[in-house]
Amino acid sequence: MYDYLIVGSGLFGSTFAHLTRMMGKKCLVIESRNHLGGNIYCEQIEGINVHKYGAHIFHTSDKEIWDFVNSIVPFNRYTNSPLANYYGRLFNLPFNMNTFHQMWGVTTPQEAEKIISEQRKEIEIQLCGRKPSNLEEQALLLVGKDIFNILIKEYTEKQWGRQCSELPPFIIQRLPVRLTYDNNYFNDAYQGIPTSGYNSLINGLLEGIDCKLNTDFFTSEYHDWKKFASKLVYTGPLDQFFEYKLGRLNWRTVQFRTKILQTPNYQGNAVINYTGKDKPYTRIIEHKHFESFGNDVYRNPKTVISEEYSCEYTPGMEPYYPINDRRNNDMADEYRKMAGAMTDVIFGGRLAEYRYYDMAPVIRKAMDCINH
Ligand code: FAD
Ligand code: UDP
Repeated sequence: MYDYLIVGSGLFGSTFAHLTRMMGKKCLVIESRNHLGGNIYCEQIEGINVHKYGAHIFHTSDKEIWDFVNSIVPFNRYTNSPLANYYGRLFNLPFNMNTFHQMWGVTTPQEAEKIISEQRKEIEIQLCGRKPSNLEEQALLLVGKDIFNILIKEYTEKQWGRQCSELPPFIIQRLPVRLTYDNNYFNDAYQGIPTSGYNSLINGLLEGIDCKLNTDFFTSEYHDWKKFASKLVYTGPLDQFFEYKLGRLNWRTVQFRTKILQTPNYQGNAVINYTGKDKPYTRIIEHKHFESFGNDVYRNPKTVISEEYSCEYTPGMEPYYPINDRRNNDMADEYRKMAGAMTDVIFGGRLAEYRYYDMAPVIRKAMDCINH
């Protein structure tokens, strides 16, 4: 008999298992895939850690979380500084003085501020003091129409398959806007990638814990979980747990086209976003740049890249991004109420809470679940 049966070996399940084991509890982790780690799992190709389910950069300002992950495995000094390619024109991201210089030729914060405030006027008049109610209004208010048209509109429509006016404002609030020459994509105090890859983080978290791969909660004997454990920790899709009683939640997913190239340095950066509709993919990831810096990238004569194609989820695909429109938010709220009423089941993580969480908040959630 276990204290906890944990469904899913992603960051939530693994952190929960690790922390409860430290408290002397016994856990069994079941995982439907043929490997541990959920979406942070990496596959070794040509000696390079390939982020199989999308590029993952760890970032947080929460020192407790940073110390926690570093106590499992050391992290490198990778700093995310993606570029945007719009029909061949290159811009630095996030939106900062480098971007404004490339966009308008300005060199001082005062000049940039003046242009942005002129470009904001139209939306300010339209809003007339009310808060932005969708991503388009929010973006226009933050950075004005040039940046919106060149770096946001088409990218967002490719990413979400919806008009910017149909999406919630918070999605674009993830991106910093700065009047300094700082290309660091995140404002957080700490950032990096595990020096030996994300699998070592997961292996460290799950050390000494019983794990079963290729075991789906819904089709295995573990569905009758009370036979095996006192409590259930569920990290799979929220609607699936309740057999889609209230309907299916929508998700966006990403399909990856991964290629091995006979060149040591394909694009000179880990992440390049294609913000125009001229390219069908949203971004190209060159994985070696997460772990090799400077001329070290030339040590390996080959490279591995992944093109990311965003599309609507249909059953059988991997659910990645919750879609926070009214229909889905309302349905998720109802499912969350049903989940909250279950005293012996803990729901945690991106899928089970239907929330657009980064890795650090997922770890924080797992820690908080244990402390309360
Ligand atoms: P998951 O990693 O999805 O783990 C859930 C696990 O449960 C999976 O292994 C799944 O197979 C298993 N499971 C599901 N159903 C069942 C079942 N019925 N039976 C058994 N097992 C089951 N965050 C960042 O901080 N930085 C980034 O750069 C970043 N990039 C991202 C890029 C992409 C494309 C995506 C989709 C997410 C990104 N994230 C990033 C978010 C990050 O992936 C998540 O915050 C984190 O991995 C969530 O962990 P989790 O345990 O909640 O879910
Ligand atoms: N975004 C954009 N242009 C970019 C990068 C991001 O318009 O070049 C928007 C887009 O709507 C995206 C959101 O900002 O969904 C959040 O971007 P982030 O890079 O945080 O997305 P994620 O890493 O979760 O895919």
